[in-house]
Amino acid sequence: VRAYFLRVAQVEPKVNAYLTQCKDAALAQAERLDQALKGWRKTTPMMAMPLAVKDNICTEGVRTTCASRMLDTFVPPYDATVVAKLRAQSYLLLGKTNLDEFAMGSSTENSAFGASRNPWNIQTVPGGSSGGSAVAVAADECVAALGSDTGGSIRQPAAFCGVVGLKPTYGRVSRYGLVAFASSLDQIGPITKDVTDAALLLGAIAGHDPRDSTSANVPVPDYLKALKRKDLKRLKVGVPAEYFADGLDPEVDQAVRTAIEGLRELGADIREIKLPTTDAAVATYYVIATAEASSNLARYDGVKFGLRAAESKDLLDMYLKTRAEGFGPEVKRRIMLGTYVLSAGYYDAYYGKAQAVRTLIRQEFEAAFQTVDLIVTPVTPTTAFKFGEKAQDPLQMYLSDIYTISANLAGLPAIALPCGFSKAGLPIGFQLIGRPFEEETLLRGAHAYE
Ligand code: GLN
Repeated sequence: VRAYFLRVAQVEPKVNAYLTQCKDAALAQAERLDQALKGWRKTTPMMAMPLAVKDNICTEGVRTTCASRMLDTFVPPYDATVVAKLRAQSYLLLGKTNLDEFAMGSSTENSAFGASRNPWNIQTVPGGSSGGSAVAVAADECVAALGSDTGGSIRQPAAFCGVVGLKPTYGRVSRYGLVAFASSLDQIGPITKDVTDAALLLGAIAGHDPRDSTSANVPVPDYLKALKRKDLKRLKVGVPAEYFADGLDPEVDQAVRTAIEGLRELGADIREIKLPTTDAAVATYYVIATAEASSNLARYDGVKFGLRAAESKDLLDMYLKTRAEGFGPEVKRRIMLGTYVLSAGYYDAYYGKAQAVRTLIRQEFEAAFQTVDLIVTPVTPTTAFKFGEKAQDPLQMYLSDIYTISANLAGLPAIALPCGFSKAGLPIGFQLIGRPFEEETLLRGAHAYE
């Protein structure tokens, strides 16, 4: 713990990964474990593991801000289920990591407390929204971290920062205590240095939770066992042409194609597949995600949580002032968009339509998984971009989510892992997508390649 905090002190001024550091508590907990562990042999994989947690995941007694002024002083009275599970295994919480406000964004530029910076080049964004978690792992400020992924927020920053990011199947990991953005898409997952750590951390947080009605009652396998096989023989891997089309940076294209050759050399049977509705994924996602966000964020009214505007005439005035002061511009934009697509006159044209397209997208994946076991794609159209490059143009920012969003719409597990560097020295990642609840196949494929 001391070594990690020395490192944090060195690099934080440059990268800004943490919103809250828990140095004293982590050191005290480490001391206690040192005492308790003397002569004790039975340990769990997460015991004494120095981890970081994205700041939209509730930690009892530790400020949880969602990188929003709205929750600047919010201290949850309870742990998220994932945190409770880690605590039960005596992990060490080093701190809470930066994100785009309420996990809305792809660069951490929407954080109310300043962006994080990519350790490979601090002129470039680390990705988002789990940018702080990816930076903390990449810059050796923790062993591993938790992120959340609604439309790529674990995988995209992992790719930009050269680390591994896994979004589990929807329902695999409890969302209880994850501050809701878009409830039908949100999932918590690990951001780690390698695939073995991803398997261990997923095993530690996965499983049914009666407190989350969408959590699935499916047994959790021993993910480490999935890593035993080092070849990909008899594994069919699909390459969707739609993911290698216009807009894909040639360097990223090349690196991902080289990774696909690597999979072939390991014995995978590589096949072309079709996912024709891919071009509608961004539009579909930004209707559904904003609709759900507008509903979820209605709870920040100055009464129940966090901020309340100082002086107001009456209740309505208090609501208006609190929300005007508490939310940043991107969050406001999404509440406006979401409220619009759900409004009586437009519901059928936008929200209803998006739900229908979402079903189509899911069915296309189902059909593809009749013939292949895994699907391989890029994670991002480009490597990490510069600060300000997309922040002024929300549409450009939204379009950069094209390759990650479909897995959320279809509820599928997906992993991002490093496959090279651009000439400018920035990491490039590729993505494997699997069948529901087949994280083992993802991990096996990723580990064999790694
Ligand atoms: N970049 C996407 C968005 O802004 C995804 C965010 C996420 O996965 N939390 O909505």
